[in-house]
Amino acid sequence: MIAVAIDGPSGAGKSTIARRAAQALGYIYVDTGALYRAIAYQMLRGGVDLDDSAAVADGLAGMRIELKFIDGEQRVFANGADVSDLIRTPEVSMGASRVSAVRAVRDFLFELQRSLARENNVVMDGRDIGTVVLPDAQVKIFLTADDTVRAKRRFDELTAKGADVTYEEVLADVRQRDYNDTHRETAPLRRAEDAVLANTTDCSFEESVHLVLTIIRERV
Ligand code: C5P
Repeated sequence: MIAVAIDGPSGAGKSTIARRAAQALGYIYVDTGALYRAIAYQMLRGGVDLDDSAAVADGLAGMRIELKFIDGEQRVFANGADVSDLIRTPEVSMGASRVSAVRAVRDFLFELQRSLARENNVVMDGRDIGTVVLPDAQVKIFLTADDTVRAKRRFDELTAKGADVTYEEVLADVRQRDYNDTHRETAPLRRAEDAVLANTTDCSFEESVHLVLTIIRERV
């Protein structure tokens, strides 16, 4: 099996770029952020205080998170319900960033992610795929862009979906999540030593896809 690990900060375009690369290669695309989001969503609904790590860890008891691939598209299920369309809100984004700092949450999702890569050729995106989840991945890419560019892209994405947010709010959010993701104790976001750096600040979407596919094809 072949694994391509793509890590990087929020809004670097990882998911859209990774999805397209996976399609081009005929691999499945695994968006691990959706797993953290599904847990955050479920806990927010249950009224769990996401800043209380003990409460978050307790909240995992009996929780069932699954990924299914329907027509090649990943869908995420929490306790049997498809929550894929409910987890893309700013509230759940921030919640995911909080719960993902809790070690019990990361341990809870570890085997699920590993087993997907054992059974399929995957392009997997996240924050710790090359460093923790799939340290032996054949290809590792650290995909990034300046935070202002990432915020602009996320802002465009959210407003296209009709979300009521300002650019300043999205930028503050991106910066806060960058800080959380790089400063947490467990599996902080960092570039694996053997990861290729791909900076897409000055790249269009098509150029970014091309860059990532070139990096992958040179190595597989
Ligand atoms: O990638 P996405 O923005 O959907 O991820 C949501 C949050 O989940 C991130 O801000 C990050 O805190 C967390 N995450 C993580 N490890 C991953 C994927 C996502 O900690 N592998």
